[in-house]
Amino acid sequence: MRRGYGDAVAVTRAIELRTEIPGPRSREIIERKERVVADPLGVYLPIVIAQGNGAIVTDVDGNSFVDFTGGVGCLAVGHAHPRVVAAVQEQAARFLHTDFTIVPYEIYVEYSERLTALAPFSGPVKAAFFNAGTEAVENAVKFARGYTRRPAVIGFEGGFHGRTLLSLTLTSKTHPYKVGLGPFAPEVYRIPFPDEYRGITARDSLDALERALSTQVAAETVAAVVVEPVQGEGGFIPAPQEFLEGLRAICDREGILLVVDEVQTGFGRTGRMFAIEHYGVEPDLMTVAKSIAGGLPLSGVLGKAEIMDSLWDNAVGGTYVGNPVALAAAVAVLDVFEEEALLERAQQIGETVRARMLGWQGRFAAIGDVRGIGPMLAVEYVEDRETKEPAPGIASRVAEEAAVRGLLILKAGIHSNCNRVLCPLVITDAELEEGLAAWEEALEAVLA
Ligand code: PLP
Repeated sequence: MRRGYGDAVAVTRAIELRTEIPGPRSREIIERKERVVADPLGVYLPIVIAQGNGAIVTDVDGNSFVDFTGGVGCLAVGHAHPRVVAAVQEQAARFLHTDFTIVPYEIYVEYSERLTALAPFSGPVKAAFFNAGTEAVENAVKFARGYTRRPAVIGFEGGFHGRTLLSLTLTSKTHPYKVGLGPFAPEVYRIPFPDEYRGITARDSLDALERALSTQVAAETVAAVVVEPVQGEGGFIPAPQEFLEGLRAICDREGILLVVDEVQTGFGRTGRMFAIEHYGVEPDLMTVAKSIAGGLPLSGVLGKAEIMDSLWDNAVGGTYVGNPVALAAAVAVLDVFEEEALLERAQQIGETVRARMLGWQGRFAAIGDVRGIGPMLAVEYVEDRETKEPAPGIASRVAEEAAVRGLLILKAGIHSNCNRVLCPLVITDAELEEGLAAWEEALEAVLA
């Protein structure tokens, strides 16, 4: 274990601000960026990192921040975890790349053994690895189409599955992701996702699915339903138990595969290794990425062996897929989860953050909802608790005010009116408290 999360009194503060935020060196680099980096790669917070350690980011001006963005949920084990760094260095010194299907390597097999043993499937499980979450989703659909010999895919309003053609088609947020970028892939259908806060029940969604199978797409042509157990970019909306059970039942009845997208929810983000474990619903296929490899690009599809084996040789793949350095990092990540009891830690973080958020909801009328599972928590801001009109401006201003107080935090939601927590699970109690205090001060500055 690196250190106890609750270790004695912090002698120094984690947050240390030495310049105005952003500092002069960050500003200078961002100005250079504007000249040579394409504009769509806009910078969310203009703070340029020099070094990351655990839950702390130090910028090029020497300022230290508590990081609740965690590389958009990729850093469950934190920035530059020593075990991950050592595994990467060791693997990089031996070989960087071959293409697993040309000159195979043991780390691919070893990690497949480790991960399939953890995966929430009852029978034999197989794995295939890719680079990004979007590739995992695209390939899961390939596996589903190959196995069922059916073309159609059903997704959900508010879902996010990536930004390449098929995954972007499944993604359900017009601005900024889709507007003007069509035409999109055919044979993708969409129904409402349950949203208790906005009055959409599990029954409403399941009824909409049943209706869609009569009015939009014949059940016998549907290969897969692709669902996030907790919508991530959509605003940390947990699927109700009844909804996932209902989806499973409809899929079983119609011979449709249930694909659970755990790209954001996986690897402890909800306090279990995979969010679907909270529900006891068995998927047919599962996609993973983000925190899988401690910040290196790696994604995977896991699934029932007979589905994963149904495609012919070379039907999936890619030059870089299942990179050995990323896989070495992924093995180290699993070791860290065991050695540092990160799932337990995740649950503790969840309890602390939820209690704090509920307190804020009691104080600030603009916080309409607090939701999530385990430490995957968000607050939703509204103009008015009655009308629930989304208040995206508040989420942006809170993120800005938090940054100048030393906390980096993201937005979420189809209206971008939530702030969400994706902190490293290795965050200490003291760092968590500093981060939450900075958030609270930001709320006071924006809402008081
Ligand atoms: N699926 C989910 C649930 C996600 O949250 C994301 C990214 O946020 C993706 C897929 C796409 O992953 P990537 O950005 O690595 O392509």
